[in-house]
Amino acid sequence: MLKKIANKKIVTTAIVFLLIFLGNIFFDLIMERRLPCLYQQKDYLEVIYLDIGQGDATLIRTTGSKNILIDGGPDLSLVYELGKVLPFYERRIDLMILTHPDQDHMYGLVEVLKRYQVDKILLNGIDDQTADYIYFLSIVNEYAVPIDVVHIGDEYFFEDLRLVILYPFEDLLGKKVDDSNSSSLAIRIDYGQTSFLFTGDLPTSRELELVAKNIDLKVNVLKAGHHGSKTSSNLEFLQTIMPEYVIISSGKKNRFGHPHFRVLKNISKVGAQILRTDKIGTIKLISDGEKVLLLE
Ligand SMILES: [Zn+2]
Repeated sequence: MLKKIANKKIVTTAIVFLLIFLGNIFFDLIMERRLPCLYQQKDYLEVIYLDIGQGDATLIRTTGSKNILIDGGPDLSLVYELGKVLPFYERRIDLMILTHPDQDHMYGLVEVLKRYQVDKILLNGIDDQTADYIYFLSIVNEYAVPIDVVHIGDEYFFEDLRLVILYPFEDLLGKKVDDSNSSSLAIRIDYGQTSFLFTGDLPTSRELELVAKNIDLKVNVLKAGHHGSKTSSNLEFLQTIMPEYVIISSGKKNRFGHPHFRVLKNISKVGAQILRTDKIGTIKLISDGEKVLLLE
């Protein structure tokens, strides 16, 4: 009789431990939306320029499967495109960056905030009273996402990846600006010997300020400013960078005529390979820390 009771106790204890174990997994999956056992360390970085039409949206997947999202495109396309490149169980964005509060960079981020757990967001901090931006900030506030307002020198590290803010040169928190494009965050991502540059919609005047400031602009990959508009991608800027690849994120047959022929000519002059989302759709590059490869 005593033996039976003892056996029953062991079984009950085992069931309790099993339930606690399953409960933990359930908590991880539902609350944290991330199961560590599903993640493997990779030995390459993925940089994916998403085909979201006329706008910008780039997803960076680190070697430890952390997700960095730079801009979000003009509509719901981002949600569909993320669904195609992320595993089905991935519901987390570790770092979201809005280069500047224009609709073609921002709207998709609103939809991601509603559907994914976003750990932190980087903003340029300008005082912009457009209805779109006020709505965006209300959603950030609703989901209690921590905000960092950043400028030159700010750095973030994810495993062996370094993200450096190169522009603006001053803290723009609460400042009104005449031209939102000119306030875009410029970001360099370093992984091993390879680097990637993002300049939002910064115009030529700001590109030349970056050159004049002697900032290290030597990167393998540049995302052309302002979707290949003639107001960006200055030749001197490109000659300072000497990129292997230049990505142009613009919509098929867009009404702005992006990319401009002069921009294409400037890029050709520096011998870089042009990759356009309007021609080839989503563009996926990988880096092993020494070289960058295009996945066809
Ligand atoms: Zn834009």
